[in-house]
Amino acid sequence: MSLNKSDVLIIGGGIMGTASAFFLRERGCSVTLLERDHIGRYASGVNFGNVRRQGRHLGQLELANRSYGLWKRLPQLIDDNLEFIASGHMRVCYREDEISELEAYAAAPQARELDLQIITGQALHQRFPFLGPEVKAGSYAPHDGHANPRLAAPAFARAAARRNARIEEQTDVQRVEKVNDEFHVITVDGQRFTARQLLITAGAWGAKLSEQFGETVPLEPNGPQMSVTEPVPYALPTVIGVFTKIKEEVIYFRQIPRGNIIIGGGNRVKPDMVNRRAFFKPESLLNQMKQMGRLLPGASNLNIIRVWSGIESYTPDSLPVMGPSSKVDGLFYAFGFCGHGFQLGPGVGDVMAELISTGSTSTSISPFDIRRFTEPAAPLSHPQSDRLAAGRLI
Ligand SMILES: Cc1cc2nc3c(=O)[nH]c(=O)nc-3n(C[C@H](O)[C@H](O)[C@H](O)COP(=O)(O)OP(=O)(O)OC[C@H]3O[C@@H](n4cnc5c(N)ncnc54)[C@H](O)[C@@H]3O)c2cc1C
Repeated sequence: MSLNKSDVLIIGGGIMGTASAFFLRERGCSVTLLERDHIGRYASGVNFGNVRRQGRHLGQLELANRSYGLWKRLPQLIDDNLEFIASGHMRVCYREDEISELEAYAAAPQARELDLQIITGQALHQRFPFLGPEVKAGSYAPHDGHANPRLAAPAFARAAARRNARIEEQTDVQRVEKVNDEFHVITVDGQRFTARQLLITAGAWGAKLSEQFGETVPLEPNGPQMSVTEPVPYALPTVIGVFTKIKEEVIYFRQIPRGNIIIGGGNRVKPDMVNRRAFFKPESLLNQMKQMGRLLPGASNLNIIRVWSGIESYTPDSLPVMGPSSKVDGLFYAFGFCGHGFQLGPGVGDVMAELISTGSTSTSISPFDIRRFTEPAAPLSHPQSDRLAAGRLI
C-alpha cells in the first residue's frame, strides 16, 4: 500500500477537520489530514469562544445539542482541557417588541433542552446589577458557556495523532479529483495523496475545492471584530450579548477567570483572501466601546490591550454546507459555518465520522444539504419555522 493512501482524506485542519479526524479514528478508519498552514491557525483558533446553543437556527439545535454533550465530556474523550466552562449565556434586548421574539424562541419545542428562562425588568437588574438601564429583558441559558478557541483544534489534532491519524501541516492542496474509485489530492509542492473517501473542511476556502467537483457554493468571507480588556477581578461568569437587528448594536462579551473581558461585535470587515489576512478597523473599537457603555457601563474605563479579527465564511442563509456531495460518491463537505461553528465543532466531527463510516447519521443535517445551492429546485427538508433564528449573531 502506498504511504500516501488512507481510508479517508481530510482537507483543512480547523476544528471541523481535526474533530472529524479524531472521531473517524475512534470508528477505526485510517485518516490523513492535510493543512496548508498550522492546525487551528484560522477561524478555529481566533474566534470569540462562545459555546452557546441559544439563538441558533432551530434546525441546528439537534446538532448543537449533540455537540454540547461532547463538550462536557471532552477532557475524558481527548485527554485535554479546552477551558470549557458551562457558565451560562444570556441574550438581552433593548426594546419591548424584542421580548416576544426571545419568548417565542424559548417556547420552541426544539429549544426545550436549553432550559431557557426569560427574565424581565427589575428581576433582571436585581440578578445582573451590572447591566445598563436600557436593557429590558434577557433570555438566560443556564447550561451554555465558553471555552478557549486557541486550544481546541490543536488538542483534537493531538488526540487524533495519538490514535494514529496522520496530520500533515504546511501541506497546501491545489487540485482534487476522482479517478475511478479513488480520490487524488495533489499539493502545491507536487505530493499526491489518495483515499476512497474525501472530506473537505477547508473553512472559508471550502468552495474553492467544491468547485473542482462542479459544486458551486456562494460563500462570502468576512471578519468578525474582536477586542480584549486588561484583566480585572473576575465577576462576570455569564456570557452576555445583545439581541438586535441593528448591526452596530450587536455586542457580546465574556470574562475569563484570569480577569480579561473578551468583546466581539459590530460591523464585520472583509479579509484579504489572497494573503490570508483579517483586519480589525479602528472604528470597530470606537463602536464596541460605545455599545459596551450601554450594555455594561462599568467596563467603560477599562483599557483594551489587544484587537483582532479572523477569516470566517458566510452563506446567504447563514447555515453551513454539511453532508455528502450532490454529485460525487464518497465526497463529503463540512464548511461555511457562518460565525457559529466553534460550538458545533465536536458535534460536526462526530456526525461526519458517523456519516462517512456508516453511510447515515442519527442527527438531522438536512437543512445544511449542499443541494440548496447546487440544485435550488430540489425539495429539501428545510421547514420555514426552522428559520426563526437564522441570521442572528449572538
Ligand atoms: C473572529 C471570529 C469569532 C467567532 N466567534 C465564534 C464564537 O464565539 N462561537 C462560535 O461557535 N463560532 C465562532 N466563530 C466561527 C468559528 O470560529 C468557525 O465557524 C469555525 O472555527 C470554522 O471551523 P473550520 O474548521 O470550518 O474552519 P477554519 O478554522 O478556517 O479551518 C479551515 C482550515 O482549512 C485550511 N485549508 C483551506 N484550504 C486549504 C487547502 N487548499 N489545503 C490545505 N488546507 C486548507 C485552512 O488553512 C484552515 O486552517 C467565529 C469566527 C471568527 C473568525
